[in-house]
Amino acid sequence: MLAPMPDRDPDPTPPAADHNLTWHAGQVAPADRARAMGLPPDQLGMTLWFTGLSGSGKSTIAVALEQKLIAMGRPAFRLDGDNVRHGLNADLGFSAEDRTENIRRVGEVARLMAEAGLIVIACFISPYRADRERVRRMHEASNLRFIEVFVDTPLDICAARDPKGLYAKAASGQLTTGLTGISPDAPYEPPESPELVLKTGELGVEGCVAGVVEAMS
Ligand code: ADP
Repeated sequence: MLAPMPDRDPDPTPPAADHNLTWHAGQVAPADRARAMGLPPDQLGMTLWFTGLSGSGKSTIAVALEQKLIAMGRPAFRLDGDNVRHGLNADLGFSAEDRTENIRRVGEVARLMAEAGLIVIACFISPYRADRERVRRMHEASNLRFIEVFVDTPLDICAARDPKGLYAKAASGQLTTGLTGISPDAPYEPPESPELVLKTGELGVEGCVAGVVEAMS
């Protein structure tokens, strides 16, 4: 028998104009969708949202976490900042407005994928607290778990790692805008109460992955 279908709560991102739109609810409950995917009915989709400076370790942890979850039989999928800017958000740059729109769009994609039953591993610098809070509210409106993971790596460690060469470019004057935590136009607002903090200066990748898996249970 099908479980009752929960209603969606009022949306934090309503349409910009009145286009005579009507929400059309489905009749499939999350537990039934999980069963159809061969999962226990309580293994529902959710979003793990990684935020932190460039080079803090978001993508590295996300790749290892995705492998781990798949090996555990959990349907996980990564949404990675630079990758998404190749397609869906190819039209966006790094101004404050574009960064906000970037996070709004990927937040909505994460919500859709989590509603579809996936464990979404979203790794975005997502420097603005208000943008991350809006993504959290989107998920709450859809009765989805949202776990904010602060990859808390000090700027000097990120700059020493410099996996993309961005900090070196900034130091040599080739990059003057848009580098979060360095450029005057690109501040980073750390989370105030994230579900999980990973200090990658102290904990290796495997330990970080284990911490996330524990936070999910
Ligand atoms: P981001 O996605 O946050 O920009 P990356 O994952 O691309 O960062 O780069 C992080 C760099 O730091 C990689 O070169 C990675 O090997 C290194 N690193 C060292 N220790 C850790 C750790 N504990 N967790 C994640 N990355 C680490």
